[in-house]
Amino acid sequence: MLLKDRVCIVTGGSSGIGRGIALEFAREGACVAVVDKQETPLRGKYHETDVTTPTVTEIEKLGAQGIFRQTDVADVSQVAHAIQQTVDHFGGLDILINNAGIHIPGGAQEISIADWDKVVGVNLRGVFVATKLAIPHLKQSNFGRIIQIASVHAYGGGAGPAYAPAKAAVVNMVRDTALEIGQDGITVNAICPGYIETAIQDYLTPEQIEEALEKTALPRFGLPRDIGRAAVFLASDDAEWITGASLLVDGGFAAGV
Ligand code: NDP
Repeated sequence: MLLKDRVCIVTGGSSGIGRGIALEFAREGACVAVVDKQETPLRGKYHETDVTTPTVTEIEKLGAQGIFRQTDVADVSQVAHAIQQTVDHFGGLDILINNAGIHIPGGAQEISIADWDKVVGVNLRGVFVATKLAIPHLKQSNFGRIIQIASVHAYGGGAGPAYAPAKAAVVNMVRDTALEIGQDGITVNAICPGYIETAIQDYLTPEQIEEALEKTALPRFGLPRDIGRAAVFLASDDAEWITGASLLVDGGFAAGV
């Protein structure tokens, strides 16, 4: 097991990619705090249509320990509470995974300023807040790791004026934080997923989904597990000298951009 007894927080861990990460960490022996707005997993129109059990139930089936903490990552006091409860429950914190994210479709003339604030509030400010509040605890760990889930859209436009810039900022925040806390032995990296089969894709038309598949070099879309295995690697001892990096896990999508 690559992560035996490591304590990990996964934001947005009830559904989709976060759930996939939580389950791969559990498989590797980690203790996982699932931090999300709700415990019931999202069911998508195209993907994850039949997911029903809470992530913690699946973690326990794998023989690992899990807790759920209801939290909105846009709310500073809720994030502080979730981190403290995780530390109190498991006796420390080794790994933070900022995965919670939202997408509101529409260009600059369609989305409201309130919606822009909402996307940036979760996808960028939420990442900063959890990172800031977790660092004092990660400094106490011998295995401190921060993994931010960004996107291929960090490297180009096309996903709207809030989502893509917020993801690009997360990629640069990773570099900045890596410089700041490298001396504390904490690594900070991003994973940039391509199209992963989750409920976040519900806003797309079948034609747009077909187009995304054509742009993906490998002959299938990604699954939450694909991101989960990449996160296991970045959290493991094998990645102890990797920091400030962003890892594309996109089936080759960005290779064609
Ligand atoms: P999903 O919508 O399937 O799952 C996101 C999870 O995050 C949900 O459980 C959701 O909870 C939760 N969440 C959303 N907002 C908050 C919040 N404010 N506080 C706490 N939890 C919240 O999305 P994905 O799994 O696909 O996405 C996960 C991450 O990966 C996101 O950051 C996304 O931008 C990124 N990503 C996804 C890609 C993809 O193709 N799927 C591609 C590139 C990046 P609730 O059910 O209550 O809404």
